[in-house]
Amino acid sequence: MKPAPFSYFAPSDLAAALELLSHHGYDAKVLAGGQSLIPTMNFRLAQPQVLIDLNGIQELFYVKEERDGQLRIGAMTRQRTLECSDVIARHVPLLHGVMPFIAHVQIRNRGTIGGSLAHADPAAELPAVMVALNARFRLQSTHGERWVNAADFYIGLFTTELAPDEILTEIAVPSLPARSGWSMQEIARRHGDYALVGVAATVTLDGADRCQDVRLVYLSVGEGPTQALTATRTLIGEQATPDVIAAAAHAAAHDDIEPLGDIHATAAYRRHLVEVLGRRALQEAVARAKS
Ligand SMILES: Cc1cc2nc3c(=O)[nH]c(=O)nc-3n(C[C@H](O)[C@H](O)[C@H](O)COP(=O)(O)OP(=O)(O)OC[C@H]3O[C@@H](n4cnc5c(N)ncnc54)[C@H](O)[C@@H]3O)c2cc1C
Repeated sequence: MKPAPFSYFAPSDLAAALELLSHHGYDAKVLAGGQSLIPTMNFRLAQPQVLIDLNGIQELFYVKEERDGQLRIGAMTRQRTLECSDVIARHVPLLHGVMPFIAHVQIRNRGTIGGSLAHADPAAELPAVMVALNARFRLQSTHGERWVNAADFYIGLFTTELAPDEILTEIAVPSLPARSGWSMQEIARRHGDYALVGVAATVTLDGADRCQDVRLVYLSVGEGPTQALTATRTLIGEQATPDVIAAAAHAAAHDDIEPLGDIHATAAYRRHLVEVLGRRALQEAVARAKS
């Protein structure tokens, strides 16, 4: 299949891209790595009349470390750049650790962090990881900018807070406090496939090894990244013993998540995976926090 005809613009700075988007609005799409958009256009599931290519905008490619340990990542940063970055590995090991789960290296060579976050595929890893990390997204238009928490950015299936004239330009990721651990778990039929179920976890312990902060965020079980809030309440203030972790994972599967069945997995199998992966993720995150 070939895409429907479209006009193509390749601005070399952000201001020009925002101007173009403001002019063409609903008729336009921005092109990042093209790993999701181009197949969608080839199948004619998307037929934008205008394509605004962000690949020539150098100001959107960066990883910056702030004095407080927070990282700022330009939206056009390739997924492979994050995978190979020592700064990311040191400051946000969960973001580093998730990369091998995303597709294949050829796709990560082109795919961008901003493209994955804006595309909002419910089976994508990065949205769940950003909610688990309490990240914030900078959205810019010709009218100015606003910051949105990752948890508030996802509002439905492939649907985000982005207005038609806005570009996601930057992702701010705080580093986890001391005595924190993380884990990323998922089951896919083959390596590189989208996950049947996946989960990102972070755990912060206090001086007495009680859980101070817990985030357990699933993918492929709803319309977007799905937080297991009852499960996390089960853990807060408690020692993360195997029994408490098992109770939390059970709560995630039976109180928090209502998975749907499809051609890839039944709802019952997904629920089973929610419990098993939740338990593994919490165990690993707690072990990392203690070490
Ligand atoms: C075979 C295959 C397997 C894959 N497997 C996985 C997987 O296992 N897990 C996973 O998470 N992903 C997977 N992907 C998707 C991949 O990670 C893509 O890179 C990603 O979803 C989209 O990123 P992109 O930079 O290519 O964006 P594009 O495809 O260029 O854009 C995607 C959408 O986001 C919009 N957009 C892009 N950037 C911005 C921005 N800065 N601001 C506003 N809107 C923007 C575009 O207009 C478009 O609507 C797979 C892709 C393929 C082809």
